[in-house]
Amino acid sequence: MSNAMIDTLFTPAELENSALDISPDLAAETLQKNVKSVNLLLKAPIYLASSQEKNLTIEMLVTFAAKIISFQRVAFYMLNEQHNQFELVFHRGFSDHQIKLLDDQAAAIPRLENLGKPLLFKKETSRRQDFFKVIGSSEILMIPVSWQGSNKAFWQLFASKPGTFTREAIQLFWLLSLQCELILQNLRKNEQTQKLAIIDSLTGLYNRRFFDQQLKIEVDRAQRRGDHLSLLMIDIDHFKNFNDNYGHQIGDQALQLISRLLGKNFRTIDTICRYGGEEFTVILPNTDHIKAFLTSERLRKATENQPFLISANREEHLTLSIGIASYPENAASDSELVSQADKALYEAKRLGRNRSIVFSPQLLGSQDKTAYKKWIDINAVDFFMGLVRSLTKTNRILFAFLHSLFPGQEISQCFYLEIDLNRQGVFFVPGQNSHPGIDCQDCLHLNLPPASKNIIADWRQEEMLSPAGKQQTRNLFPVTAAYPWEEAVFRYPHRFSAEKWGWIFLFLQLPKNQEEFRRQVEAARKEFSEAIPLISEGITHDIQQQDYYRQVTRKLISLSETRLPYYRQHSYRVARLLASFCRRLELAPKTTETLVNTAYFYDLGLLSIKTDILLKDSPLTEQEMYICQQHPLLSWEIARFSPTAIHPDKDAILYHHECFDGSGYPEQLSGSGIPLSARILSLVDSYTAMTETRPYRQALKPRQALKEISYLSGSKFDPVLTQEFCHLIKSELSQ
Ligand code: GH3
Ligand code: MG
Ligand code: MG
Repeated sequence: MSNAMIDTLFTPAELENSALDISPDLAAETLQKNVKSVNLLLKAPIYLASSQEKNLTIEMLVTFAAKIISFQRVAFYMLNEQHNQFELVFHRGFSDHQIKLLDDQAAAIPRLENLGKPLLFKKETSRRQDFFKVIGSSEILMIPVSWQGSNKAFWQLFASKPGTFTREAIQLFWLLSLQCELILQNLRKNEQTQKLAIIDSLTGLYNRRFFDQQLKIEVDRAQRRGDHLSLLMIDIDHFKNFNDNYGHQIGDQALQLISRLLGKNFRTIDTICRYGGEEFTVILPNTDHIKAFLTSERLRKATENQPFLISANREEHLTLSIGIASYPENAASDSELVSQADKALYEAKRLGRNRSIVFSPQLLGSQDKTAYKKWIDINAVDFFMGLVRSLTKTNRILFAFLHSLFPGQEISQCFYLEIDLNRQGVFFVPGQNSHPGIDCQDCLHLNLPPASKNIIADWRQEEMLSPAGKQQTRNLFPVTAAYPWEEAVFRYPHRFSAEKWGWIFLFLQLPKNQEEFRRQVEAARKEFSEAIPLISEGITHDIQQQDYYRQVTRKLISLSETRLPYYRQHSYRVARLLASFCRRLELAPKTTETLVNTAYFYDLGLLSIKTDILLKDSPLTEQEMYICQQHPLLSWEIARFSPTAIHPDKDAILYHHECFDGSGYPEQLSGSGIPLSARILSLVDSYTAMTETRPYRQALKPRQALKEISYLSGSKFDPVLTQEFCHLIKSELSQ
């Protein structure tokens, strides 16, 4: 619906021309002829005054009106004083398409002080034949409703037959409307007092009641307009602990702080509500799931980084789990939207909290859930299999691997036990929750039941007697109150060499849903036993730091090569070029080294993306695009597990797809807001990619690529860096 069309129907001139020369005083003969209607007119205010609810009152008024004037459809508009615009608040008899048209025209109705008389618009004399055609009427009667001296509302009655609205009928309806002005005015007032009942007193946000109403209205509007709409369900993580630790009053202050953060991170058209306790909801009109995810992540990070002062020398940080669902992508109604966002929130909690999860049937639909899990697992397992082949840091490997197998599970204990005949002892590699630096014997006493020491001794004997070191699994410890892990304990003995055996113990707390957990453990057992030879192979190699680094990276790159054949050599070329570019920029040697190392990590997130998306040659769907745009984040998730000797540059990894003009992802940073390392990597990565052949295009010649890079200076790339980069390449080419 173009505004031009709306404007011309309701220009001030048009309104004045259509005003009827009529008065509300009924002539004696009209009174006589319409005695029934007049009777009704007298009673109407009495009936209507009893209703407090806007829609109901208007509906009743319409019922009265229908008895005194004939019309096919009706609409009622009220002035929203805050926005200084009329809004469609009631309609009957229209199709969705027509409602959208009325909705649009509402905003275009001019506010004229002296508009007191009924107005009649006729198709035959109107220049806006098309409007009448779409709305399916030949006459429109508009009756202004005023109070406090100005025009605050409008009736619109629509008739399909010309001549339906007679002078008499118009007079009668106008009288009815005049009679009811006070009632309509009261409705407005009621609405304002009702406001008090829709605000949460602690946070000043809207309450649950308002949320329910508003979500309905917004979904309705999105449906009519064909817009997107997203819903965020936000829950503070471990808030009960926070309350228990610091008391309810501090808890209340924290809720207020989070509410302020919510206020700062959303637009004025978004509706922010306190849904209950420590749960919040945000309705984002005109927002698809991708934009909603980015907004949600912005809020999540802002919260994570916001210190909350408990006392002069103590501060805490709270985190949020956020579930996102969007109309029409995931839901067709308001209740479905709430339920899907809730499922996504549950998933966010399950995966370890402090994260945003977008609902998607592939992710959470019951029949597809296994498929999705498998997809995640396969990618994670693939990756970690590669990793374990070359790493020596056993507990790191184990944890990386275990986390991939049990996403969201708390692993309460995990350790690796090694018997080395040469070193005459049992050596212990502590797991995540074990105390660092505690020696093996202590640990055995600390974490295992006293009797287990002997069991281990016997067992060691037994294993030594069967040097084949078969990969069998069985429970080692009897279940006791102090040791409630029967289902979850499993061990993997493995023989590394003639002198060396090792066992991996894994203890997981038994979760509530034991059925599902048991299945998970079974699946993990299988994966695990397949990985064990690889782990042990890695462990037996006593590799020096540098060698070790070289091996890790080579392994990772070869993994990405199997996924993405065209990536062959890409990381090496990026690393090489990064090194010379950093030198030209005279960066500190340490910075250069970090950035060069990053070359091997920044695209590893691609490993977690299905190959059919990566190699797809037709345009990506929104969901696929969204998945691809996650890769910087996934890369970082993987890089975090890199051995401590290598520190990849987190900023460079996370932001290498940001654009200088703010049009990149994932956070739409711009200019110097993008970390320098990311701006550098973005240039080098793009140039390198341009000069390589891809399945869908040939490699560009260096000079062509340079031209392309200069062309994108200022939009994609930092202009100052681009200039330096071009000088570098030109000087390399001329050598
Ligand atoms: P999870 O990460 O799974 O969400 O754990 P949680 O502890 O945040 O969730 P749970 O639902 O178990 O606990 C919510 C807690 O929020 C319980 C209550 O102590 C606290 N809470 C709810 N409403 C208020 C309130 O108005 N003021 C304060 N101070 N605390 C509240
Ligand atoms: Mg909760
Ligand atoms: Mg919570």
